[in-house]
Amino acid sequence: MSDLEKENTQPSRDRELGMRRNITRRDFLNGIAVGVGGTLASPWIAGLLEAQTSATSAQDRPRYYPPTLTGMRGSHPGAFEVAHALRDGTFWETAGKPIDTGETFDLIVVGGGVSGLAAAYFYRKQAGPSARILILDNHDDFGGHAKRNEFHLAGRMLLTNGGTVAIESPFPYSKEARGLLTELGIDPPALQKKYASNHPYGDLGFGYFFDKETFGTERLVANAPGGFYGRQGASGKWAEFLARTPLSAEAQKDIVRIQEAKIDYMEGVAEAEKKARLSKMSYKDFLLNLVKAHPDVIPFYRTRTHGLYGIGIDAVPALDCWAIHFPGFQGMGLDRVPSKGLSFTALGEVTPQEEYHFHFPDGNASIARMLVRSLVPGVAPGTTAEDIVTAKMDYSRLDHGDSPIRIRLSSTAVLARHVGDSRSAKQVEVVYGRDQKAYTVRGKGIVLACWNMVIPYLCPDLPAEQKEALHYGVKVPLVYSVVGLRNWTAFHKLGVRGISCPGMYHSSMNLDQAPNIGEYRTPQSPEDPVLVHMLRTPCQPGLSARKQQRAGHYELLATSFDTFERNIRDQFGRVLGGSGFDPARDIEAITVNRWPHGYAYEYNPLWDPDWPEGKRPCDIARRRFGRITIANSDAAAAAYTDQAIDQGYRAVQEVLSS
Ligand SMILES: Cc1cc2nc3c(=O)[nH]c(=O)nc-3n(C[C@H](O)[C@H](O)[C@H](O)COP(=O)(O)OP(=O)(O)OC[C@H]3O[C@@H](n4cnc5c(N)ncnc54)[C@H](O)[C@@H]3O)c2cc1C
Repeated sequence: MSDLEKENTQPSRDRELGMRRNITRRDFLNGIAVGVGGTLASPWIAGLLEAQTSATSAQDRPRYYPPTLTGMRGSHPGAFEVAHALRDGTFWETAGKPIDTGETFDLIVVGGGVSGLAAAYFYRKQAGPSARILILDNHDDFGGHAKRNEFHLAGRMLLTNGGTVAIESPFPYSKEARGLLTELGIDPPALQKKYASNHPYGDLGFGYFFDKETFGTERLVANAPGGFYGRQGASGKWAEFLARTPLSAEAQKDIVRIQEAKIDYMEGVAEAEKKARLSKMSYKDFLLNLVKAHPDVIPFYRTRTHGLYGIGIDAVPALDCWAIHFPGFQGMGLDRVPSKGLSFTALGEVTPQEEYHFHFPDGNASIARMLVRSLVPGVAPGTTAEDIVTAKMDYSRLDHGDSPIRIRLSSTAVLARHVGDSRSAKQVEVVYGRDQKAYTVRGKGIVLACWNMVIPYLCPDLPAEQKEALHYGVKVPLVYSVVGLRNWTAFHKLGVRGISCPGMYHSSMNLDQAPNIGEYRTPQSPEDPVLVHMLRTPCQPGLSARKQQRAGHYELLATSFDTFERNIRDQFGRVLGGSGFDPARDIEAITVNRWPHGYAYEYNPLWDPDWPEGKRPCDIARRRFGRITIANSDAAAAAYTDQAIDQGYRAVQEVLSS
């Protein structure tokens, strides 16, 4: 334990931070401690125990409304224990014989994220309105990563995204994905024109917080040039900004050079060769070895890639950083055209497309909610992109006898197989765990819209090569913590709406930025309650991307809600302290959206081979297996909503032709 951690866990410090204050943080359940292996001794029995008492089978109960739950969300207690028991080989020891529900469906979809919901939508569209479809999801809410966080503070509803936020993707939406949005009534560029820029923080800028553990002195410095990411390009303002920071004189000089100077650090090298070399060195190595910057600049830049990649500048290729507008490359004569050696995300950055930044107040949870409204009759009122935002959904309709499409929550699929030989079977079955029991349902086909890494455990009959490919990608762990404040006068006084905190537990904190849309109203005056978004990515610099992600996954599952809360309160107190902010008084609610299995793994030119077309692990992993097909953004190795929809579409075409 560090000195700071020791100091922070003292009872007096806890009191100062308000650790025991009765805020909306624990109406569900705290994080549960798990071992470093990420498992409990007998997860099937132990994992579900108290964690499930208030959630399992609860979707039919009156007032069941998971978006308003706070505390540990995302991969919440009760959501993952069955899958981990399956992985560890203990599930079947304790589950007992599955109970046959006697239900049969045309299609069973495993995974109620955007991909699974889209698959159900496409299937119904092609097979007809009477098609019977069951969607299973292990969480207590639908949407997968596209989750809604709904707070009620001082009588006002405040919404934000618990995961997926942006509709915009690196590449234009396909005909099918765009078509689905259009049919639902979502036209992002039109919504952008109507609603995008009506948040109240107009003249507040961005700042950096320098913590004493990393930078020797504690200081918030406002008015950072270049916006939140300090993007490349000469602004002429960096020297003045840096002079107010505790960075060493050498670091300041080099940061000005990195941000503003037009220098070719590979003079005489052909452009294509420059790009090839930059794709095989990290941004950190670029700064240290090519730019020859002082090592003190690294702590200033190291977390800049966290939001997009979930890993630091030590593990992201320099060429990707050029594509996403990081500084240092402005004199290198690199053409902004698509080229080899870029990851999916970075390739999209240099591929022209119509830009829009509209997002719903709860992010793409609104897309999931509109899909569910279209699939399940009577679940929510309204018909438009506006009225979905404040619509209250009736969860008791989700798995109701009179709907041909049913969504069953808190249900983890543990087996998906053919009844008979996969080459000739006419029927499939799925076993799922729920309420500490196992159940069987049958159907004509299965779309596995769940995560690649669980599929080999669900489908032991898959070919070995396909199982290996399914295991290749390691999903990116990350946390979106959302903190409800009684007002944002502290941000207002300090002149910031977003703060980069490269040395802190959460590497950034930003006032939530949602549009007024429909009947939804965002906070306007600094006296209004507000939500603050914080990002944490549990990186382990020095390891490969996949190893960092694996280590981060275990770290997140082993971190209790108390630890998150203490760190959040400490960070707020220190960063905003100069404004009179008091974490014990001013924090009203905390939700930790923990995603140990977050973004789909994107291939990273620094760490992954350059596979020939059609031979990437995701190409092999998503092969149809008889009547079982595979969707999810993992199947595209691209963590975007349009990709999730496209994979749902493809999987449905395959299952319909099987
Ligand atoms: C924090 C975060 C922020 C993001 N931000 C963006 C963004 O701004 N824009 C963007 O385009 N994309 C974003 N993404 C990527 C996001 O993953 C995709 O856009 C999309 O939502 C993925 O949908 P999906 O259905 O493919 O997967 P998921 O949303 O992961 O859904 C799959 C579902 O299957 C469930 N499941 C897994 N195993 C089982 C099982 N055995 N039984 C039952 N259910 C199971 C999972 O728990 C999950 O609920 C973000 C992701 C995260 C984690």
